[in-house]
Amino acid sequence: MPLVSIRSYDNYFDAALAQGVLESAGIDCFLQDVHSVTINPVLTNAIGGIKLRVRSEDYEQASNLLSSGENKDVHPQCPDCGSVNTSLSVDLPSKTWFSLLLEALTSSSLSSKGQLHYQCNECKVKFRD
Ligand SMILES: [Zn+2]
Repeated sequence: MPLVSIRSYDNYFDAALAQGVLESAGIDCFLQDVHSVTINPVLTNAIGGIKLRVRSEDYEQASNLLSSGENKDVHPQCPDCGSVNTSLSVDLPSKTWFSLLLEALTSSSLSSKGQLHYQCNECKVKFRD
């Protein structure tokens, strides 16, 4: 039963997170070279990072799981057309970057002011995550 590398990570936390995703879906997997990378980060590039390995027959399912998790973080799905071709953008209604900067410095987050949103690149609809 051959094992294949599905991803490699340069830090333990990302690797452990991905391992958790697969294990919660019932896919057996293990991390290779955790100790070398954790003990000596300089080695990370030399040995190619921490490898997440799965059985070859689980590769496709595992890859899909990891990809959907990664896409979800960066590109939320458009509520209108269902596309994940979306991007984060900022509205600047009669505001300068200077006043935005002031707000950012004096308030906890821009999103609470309603200026941060996502825009669908397919149908141009704007939405909140
Ligand atoms: Zn859309």
